[in-house]
Amino acid sequence: MGCFMPITVRWDGGVSVEYGGSRLIFDPQRESGSYRYVFITHAHYDHSKGFSFKGSEKASTEETKKIVSLYGRKISGWRPLPVGGRVEVDDLEVVAHNAGHVLGSTLYEVITPEGNVVYTGDFQFKDTFTVRAAEPISCDILVVDSTFGSPSFVFPDREELAHEMVE
Ligand SMILES: [Zn+2]
Repeated sequence: MGCFMPITVRWDGGVSVEYGGSRLIFDPQRESGSYRYVFITHAHYDHSKGFSFKGSEKASTEETKKIVSLYGRKISGWRPLPVGGRVEVDDLEVVAHNAGHVLGSTLYEVITPEGNVVYTGDFQFKDTFTVRAAEPISCDILVVDSTFGSPSFVFPDREELAHEMVE
């Protein structure tokens, strides 16, 4: 009989995924020395604070790191994780997928022996003027970022707005 280990997904100042002895955190808001690996979805300030943390290894796309560097933030212990790239952490594998939100944005899939977890960060299923749409990913556990998920947010049509701006 195999040994079942639960996947634990919780808010711990960021989206934390634990499996066995492995602990990963995505878009953390506050520093915690207990995570060796920090994954950052995109350069917007509410998602990229983890770049400033000391003692953790950070992963993001090259574009995300470059944008954050332009704000003058010092970044150490960074490794590139391009769209389509994968990194293994013990029994886990983290895959970066295009999130369709802004230049360099990713959503992350964590593959465990018991199933996969997807954390979206900010994402979009429509092409924009600057980035391609995200593709759906089949998963066992989905954590959706919903900054603009409230029905109170209704945005004007992109094309119409662009025409108004040009006029
Ligand atoms: Zn954003």
